[in-house]
Amino acid sequence: MVKALLLNQEDKKTIAQLTEISIDDLPQGEVLVDVACSSINYKDGLAVTGKAPVVTQFPMVPGIDCAGTVIESTDERYQAGDKVILTGWGVGEGHWGGMAEKARFKADWLVPMPANCDETKAMQIGTAGLTAMLCVQALVDGGVKPESGPVLVTGASGGVGSVAVTLLAKLGYEVVASSGRVEENSELLKALGASSVLDRSELDRDARPLERQLWAGLVDTVGNKVLATALSQMKYDSVAAICGLAGGFALPTTVMPFILRGVRLQGIDSVYCPFAKRQAAWERILEILPESFFAHACNAISLEQVEEYANKIIRGQVTGRVLVKL
Ligand code: NDP
Repeated sequence: MVKALLLNQEDKKTIAQLTEISIDDLPQGEVLVDVACSSINYKDGLAVTGKAPVVTQFPMVPGIDCAGTVIESTDERYQAGDKVILTGWGVGEGHWGGMAEKARFKADWLVPMPANCDETKAMQIGTAGLTAMLCVQALVDGGVKPESGPVLVTGASGGVGSVAVTLLAKLGYEVVASSGRVEENSELLKALGASSVLDRSELDRDARPLERQLWAGLVDTVGNKVLATALSQMKYDSVAAICGLAGGFALPTTVMPFILRGVRLQGIDSVYCPFAKRQAAWERILEILPESFFAHACNAISLEQVEEYANKIIRGQVTGRVLVKL
């Protein structure tokens, strides 16, 4: 028996309970993992609170990411003792996830632990960090250079946002961090590398189809009016990498930024990102991310505190990344 957080549904309400599960009850997969850490991502918040129907079957062990050591494997790519990272693939939604002391996964879903990484670092980065890297890579691949102009990051105090700010600043970009918590988080965002912090309220409004051209690049984790306003302020031939919906899934925009300024919109998905791209992104994050990120922007909690932090992340009250120690 191993300790786990288990989600059940009663009268359409999600109930989270700390319990013990049998290893025999773990879902099928080639690789059994001794989980060292998981983390709290926005989607974990949705799953644990039941705020949105991301969990497709109950009972469910949440945890869309984790890192640990292989206990046994029937796939030749992994041997007992290997350290591995898991993010995405519907884990914690339709397949039991990382918030249990043991988990069983398909070998195809795993990434070998990079040489300069360990379980703690891997989950301080986690799904959010991987997604931030994919966003930054999309800007780089789209030709956005430090000399192209400022890059806007929305939802900057969150997991994806804080990693994106740090990565972009380290790569030499001028980063403007948009946040709804300017007073609380300006100091941290500047320590991570933001040149300035923009109050979310300046973007969270009805935008004109085209506004003054400000941004050479955009990493958006928020969606809705914030994204629509940012799009109307994109420079000619700029790139917007969009990955999130913390402010809602609507996009009340017009075709104008795209047809008159050649703005390119790149959607980012980390869940089904192919292995080669995923592995390259992990290597690259670890090359770029400074040690100061782990010191300033990461907290650690226990499995007992997951429900509390799931509620916090949904209310927009989490800053940076939250590691869950198993
Ligand atoms: P966090 O909650 O850590 O970050 C989101 C941030 O958005 C908050 O910290 C807050 O920043 C801001 N925010 C919160 N609520 C609102 C609101 N109502 N209106 C506007 N801004 C708000 O979440 P994550 O970083 O884990 O995820 C961010 C988003 O990216 C989520 O929507 C998530 O689902 C998505 N995501 C997508 C992935 C993909 O593969 N496409 C993978 C990972 C995440 P501040 O206070 O600074 O404004």
